[in-house]
Amino acid sequence: MSKEIHLIDKDFVPYISEEKILSRVKVLSSQIRADYGSNNVLFLSVLNGSFMFTSDLMKSMNGEVELSFIKLSSYEGTSTSGKVHELIGLNQNIQGRHIVILEDIVDTGLTVQRVITMLQMQNPLSIEVCTLLYKPEAFKGDTAPKYFGFKIPNKFVVGYGLDYDQLGRNFNEIYQLKD
Ligand code: 5GP
Repeated sequence: MSKEIHLIDKDFVPYISEEKILSRVKVLSSQIRADYGSNNVLFLSVLNGSFMFTSDLMKSMNGEVELSFIKLSSYEGTSTSGKVHELIGLNQNIQGRHIVILEDIVDTGLTVQRVITMLQMQNPLSIEVCTLLYKPEAFKGDTAPKYFGFKIPNKFVVGYGLDYDQLGRNFNEIYQLKD
C-alpha cells in the first residue's frame, strides 16, 4: 500500500492505484479499437500532463494508430483581444482523419474545447476526446468526453503525469489532496 506524499506545501493521499489505472486503460483501448474497427486512428496527445496515460494507452492499442503530441500555449494579446491561444506541435495534415484527443484530465472542459475548435478548422473526419480523468461537477462544456477512465469529484489530484506546480508527474498512481 502506497503512502501519503508531500509536495511543496500540500499533502496528498493515494487515490487511484496503478493496477486500477492500467486495467481501465486496457478497457479504453479495446473500446476505441471496437468503435473504429480497422480504421487508422490519429491520437493527438495534449502535453504535458497526458504523457504517461498516452504511453500506456498506446502500448495497449492494437491495429493501425498514429500519435502526435500537441500543446496549447497562451500568451497575452493586445488589450482588446485578451489571451491568444495557439496550438503547437501539429505539423501534419489532419484533413479526413479520425482524431482522438488524449487528455490527462477534463475539468471545466475549456482547454479541450479550445483544442477541438482549432482542430475543426482543418476538417478532420471525426474528433473524439479520451481523458483519463473527468470531473463532471466542474464541467461546463456541452458534450462530455466520449471516453474517460474515471469520473472523479471536484478535488485536486496529482501523479501519473499530473502535476502540482510541476511536481508529482513521476508517480505511477494518482493521489488526491488531503482534507
Ligand atoms: P480545464 O478546466 O480546461 O478542463 O482543465 C485545465 C487544466 O487544468 C487541465 O488540463 C489540467 O492541466 C489542470 N487541472 C484541472 N484539474 C486538475 C487537477 O485536479 N489536478 C491537476 N494536477 N491539474 C488539474
